[in-house]
Amino acid sequence: MLSKSNPYLREANLIGGKWVPADSGKTIDVTNPATGLKLGTVPKSGAAETRRAVEAAHVAFQTFRKTTALERSKLLRKLADALMDNQQALAELLTMEQGKSLTEAKGEVASSAAYVQWFAEEARRTYGDVVPSPWADRRILVTREPVGVIAAITPWNFPSSMLARKIGPAIAAGCTAVVKPASQTPYSGLAWGALAEEVGIPAGVVNVVTGSAAEIGDELTANPLVKKITFTGSTEVGKVLMAKAAGTVKKVSMELGGNAPFLVFDDADLDRAVEGAITAKYRNSGQTCVCTNRFFVQAGIYDKFVEKLAAASNRLKVGPGLDDGVQQGPLIDDKAVEKVEELIADATTKGGKVVAGGKRHSLGGSFFEPTVISGAKPQMRFMKEEIFGPVAPVFRFDTEAEAVALANDTEYGLACYFYTGDLGRAFRVMEGLKYGMVGVNEGLITTPEAPFGGVKESGLGREGGHQGIEDYLDTKYVCIGGLGL
Ligand code: ADP
Repeated sequence: MLSKSNPYLREANLIGGKWVPADSGKTIDVTNPATGLKLGTVPKSGAAETRRAVEAAHVAFQTFRKTTALERSKLLRKLADALMDNQQALAELLTMEQGKSLTEAKGEVASSAAYVQWFAEEARRTYGDVVPSPWADRRILVTREPVGVIAAITPWNFPSSMLARKIGPAIAAGCTAVVKPASQTPYSGLAWGALAEEVGIPAGVVNVVTGSAAEIGDELTANPLVKKITFTGSTEVGKVLMAKAAGTVKKVSMELGGNAPFLVFDDADLDRAVEGAITAKYRNSGQTCVCTNRFFVQAGIYDKFVEKLAAASNRLKVGPGLDDGVQQGPLIDDKAVEKVEELIADATTKGGKVVAGGKRHSLGGSFFEPTVISGAKPQMRFMKEEIFGPVAPVFRFDTEAEAVALANDTEYGLACYFYTGDLGRAFRVMEGLKYGMVGVNEGLITTPEAPFGGVKESGLGREGGHQGIEDYLDTKYVCIGGLGL
């Protein structure tokens, strides 16, 4: 079981400032993926609890919308400090329910704090406009207002930082929120409720409900009091939410699936490319939407790249996230392992060669060996499907045009990476890649200062950057006439 002494452990919903169970009293078990053992439970809530949370957020909004930007900025600064002051406890909670190494979990909490800090700053910069008027006796103002109650639905792979990118701008803008974390990792979501309380964010501004995804999701998308849905998760569920949100014309922001290509040209710095490849592939054991799904390597350095990538993959330390020096935790569950096994089997029957790893790790459970497959071909399933696991398929290409075409041959368009030493090529390829984010000679590019988000079926809207608060604000045009000027 989880240490009940963790100060951020909550096993109840937070609705209107009260920690409450599900109406039915039913619960969902939360499991540690490193041990398969039960950590505890959270409420199995449905539509009724969600509706009350929305109503509480609506009530809180009537007051919170009138707070000044400076007041909200101060609350967010306190929240960022609280995250960092309690980084260890929050990271332990995260590792125990999610599996990632404690180093990565601490990094995620630090990233949450960085996003909250960023939005504390952005809160004070939601400028409007005074527009030159075409009428002598009228003046034109354009103001920005909080949209109202927002609903946030988040996944299990970054259960803390995905909420930072949503709760941060919501509070900055003056919105109130109802949050539904993933059922596999609800504790990091509930911890946001505890943190919000601790730093004095008014009751009802942040509400957290755990339970049945479909029931909660249906209420959040149908309830007319909710003005915006922000979702991070699969493209499949994102499409369902968009369709449902259409019924009441809510704003939507969607951070959906990815199929990141990683291109290495003959003129690249090979060691730098391998180092970037390890980060871009194996962070969170390959379970991120910006993780490399497909490596494309030019023929002249293909063999060397594969050899070095395989050697570096073999060196990664696999184990329970709380153990010292561990770099690769378990996958989230057995279903994830089965998917990875299927994709490897598909590749080997189509001529792919396993040059590192390739099977379940001797530690058992949902641990999997970091895997490299050479001789990858476009007809293999991972050309189109998200792997979401520690498997690196390496394709060979000859020309730049061929590589860019292969990289773009997907319905996704989230992150991509490429390595080259040629400046002209860097611009050509960057402009040719149809993606929302591009890493040039870098394998890890996420930062609060930059807009994170995708194109095509990878989503809508941006999180971070000055763009990150846009979706939480409505624009109001005010025409003031009869001024007698
Ligand atoms: P993943 O493959 O990462 O689990 P999902 O898209 O299935 O991604 O889940 C992301 C989030 O969406 C989770 O919080 C999950 O509970 C939630 N979710 C799944 N199905 C629905 C649904 N029909 N309505 C609302 N939320 C959903």
